[in-house]
Amino acid sequence: MPSKKTLIGAIALLGEAAEPSRGPVDIVIDGRLIQEIRPSGAQPPEGTAIDMRGRLLTAGLINGHHHSHEGYYKGRKDNMPLELWMNYVRPLRPIELTPREVYLRTMIGALEAVHSGTTTLCDDTNVAPRINQDHVDAVFQAYEDLGIRAYVGPTLFDRPFFRAVPFVDEEFPKDLLAELDGTPMFSSADLLAFAKKTAREHHPNEKRVGTILAPSAPQRCTEDFIKAVRRTADDMDLPVMMHVQETRMQVVTGQLWHGSTMVEYLDRLGFMKPKTAFIHGIWLKPTEIEILARTGVSVQHNPTSNLKVGSGLAPIRALIDGGVNVSMGTDGCGSIEGPDMQNALYLASLLHKLRGDYNRLGRRHRLVSLRHHGRRQGARAREGARRNREGPHRRPDRLQPAQPAIHAAEQSGASAGLRGLPPRGRFRDGRRRDHS
Ligand SMILES: [Zn+2]
Repeated sequence: MPSKKTLIGAIALLGEAAEPSRGPVDIVIDGRLIQEIRPSGAQPPEGTAIDMRGRLLTAGLINGHHHSHEGYYKGRKDNMPLELWMNYVRPLRPIELTPREVYLRTMIGALEAVHSGTTTLCDDTNVAPRINQDHVDAVFQAYEDLGIRAYVGPTLFDRPFFRAVPFVDEEFPKDLLAELDGTPMFSSADLLAFAKKTAREHHPNEKRVGTILAPSAPQRCTEDFIKAVRRTADDMDLPVMMHVQETRMQVVTGQLWHGSTMVEYLDRLGFMKPKTAFIHGIWLKPTEIEILARTGVSVQHNPTSNLKVGSGLAPIRALIDGGVNVSMGTDGCGSIEGPDMQNALYLASLLHKLRGDYNRLGRRHRLVSLRHHGRRQGARAREGARRNREGPHRRPDRLQPAQPAIHAAEQSGASAGLRGLPPRGRFRDGRRRDHS
């Protein structure tokens, strides 16, 4: 097969602002790189010609937050708050799986993600209650085999989940507490050593399937552990993601344990830096939004999950207006029914009009900021493509014929119209093929 191909005649969303091209364009791809984007018909097609007339072409979506370990929990639990729900999707004694079952669990989720237009996935995958190297290897292997770009963060926490809420000592029966505390768990040192080893073998600066550091949440980690994770991230140049202030309970926990919110606590620890994403960030004060903007920490918005678990509505407009980088994700299949980024886009595009403001989140913020910024902060996902940023087809000055199609695409909430996703830049006849 010739390494060059030309996608012919699509309207493309181009550049930083993802503006629709003025007219149809031809896109020349050389191997896995975009060589040129030019007005359709300006030059003969190079290599294999692929007819894309009548189609809208955009960069791949980035799912900034996913939990592959919840793949077998779809539809299991509903109508309970996160703190109770968590005990079902991350039980102290989970069902034992084989590496093959872990591989299939990961692969099924990744396939679903690909079918919703996702080309990059950040997977915070739980390895508790003990580190099983075969299981982690199976996760990496699934993403390698599929060809998607992925960032795998084995979940890091050194405080059992049942101790991540206040009043456990006061309220739990003593014998139950003794039994739960006696459950074997990996040590902080073992977990950190494992994370470092994984980073040496799968560094995201070098690998298509790389690792990130994923300390689960401030209430699930000791202060010393949070500091150690930060040091490791700085020393090894690794991105970090952490669940922060997803529920009101978590805000109250911060006030009880640290005399402040978790964001203020993490700021005091020096944990908040660029290349760090706070997942959810639902319950935030204006002063915390200022801290996020000052420190360069991103917020990852997972509207589907937030609705399913009933956690609340993230202040996305205020975050964007405050200069905070916002990305999007789906969260795991325990809190949603599939890693469908089209569905997440759909909800984000409508949800923030809830209080009657018809400009809560403009298209630029939905399709552009959320997707693009997700890419920028999403574990330093690399573009891997050169883009032609010049040319008369850019910067339209009037409403384009493509606009209704864009609105329809993002607000239909369905991936059925999606064609031709090339996770590794391989593309033929508008349909994805299996390439090794
Ligand atoms: Zn999560």
